[in-house]
Amino acid sequence: MGSLASKEDHPGELKSFASLREEMVERNIAARGVRDELVLSAMRKVPRELFLPKNLREFAHEDLPLPIAGGQTISQPYIVAFMAESLQLKGGEKILEIGAGSGYAAAVLSEIAAKVYTVERLGQLADTAAVTLADLGYDNVCVLHGDGSRGWLEHAPYDAIVVAAGGPQVPESLKAQLKIGGRLVIPVGADQRVQELVRVTRVSENEYRSEDIADVRFVPLIGEEGWTTAKEGEARQVRAGRCGRFLRKRKRWSGTSPT
Ligand code: SAH
Repeated sequence: MGSLASKEDHPGELKSFASLREEMVERNIAARGVRDELVLSAMRKVPRELFLPKNLREFAHEDLPLPIAGGQTISQPYIVAFMAESLQLKGGEKILEIGAGSGYAAAVLSEIAAKVYTVERLGQLADTAAVTLADLGYDNVCVLHGDGSRGWLEHAPYDAIVVAAGGPQVPESLKAQLKIGGRLVIPVGADQRVQELVRVTRVSENEYRSEDIADVRFVPLIGEEGWTTAKEGEARQVRAGRCGRFLRKRKRWSGTSPT
């Protein structure tokens, strides 16, 4: 089993990643109000360190957003858990995530859902996320390189949609890709870096209910139905989505960290 020296209260002692994760979930997630057992159990399972660049793995169990490639960030564990709880999942759903980033949040959602579709506009991140997810055996996640502000129509409608980047408004395409009764959780704000986390529930064919649930800070959602400040020609090409089983497998995640 993989292990990591805990520099905090047990100098020189080795602690397993699983126990560090357990502590993180108790201290930073459950103690701060996330109660949903499906979410807490998913957070206990996913090895966040393996979604980070090697030099940042020692910080994987601190409740911090951390830099990944392309000037983007892996969200802090608490916000991943809070957003997952806000989706009001029962298990077995079909979920769309916009902003795959490292693939970590998609892995957490895939521990609860039947299927997770995730879209990432930066090709380098989409590639790395797809390979990491496949290597860890997350066969129920598909990654698409493209503009997720328009959703992923091919697999719609979704029980739940979560957006990990902040837009100026709720994209109409995402609302249209929700099932009736489905929930969309998205950071929305007039400022590119500060937003209100909004939950939109599709009440009927033409009716939506919107609730503000938290103040948050996310990187901007850049795309046709998001902010339009993307550099010309960036990430415009949409390739076919790739799911875990179509990728080369090096190893399968079995619940403990490889050394
Ligand atoms: N869920 C991620 C966090 C990602 S940060 C994780 O667990 O690591 C937000 C991500 O949204 C960034 O990677 C950014 O490139 C991506 N993004 C921004 N605009 C997007 C768009 N229109 N479509 C898809 N991804 C987008």
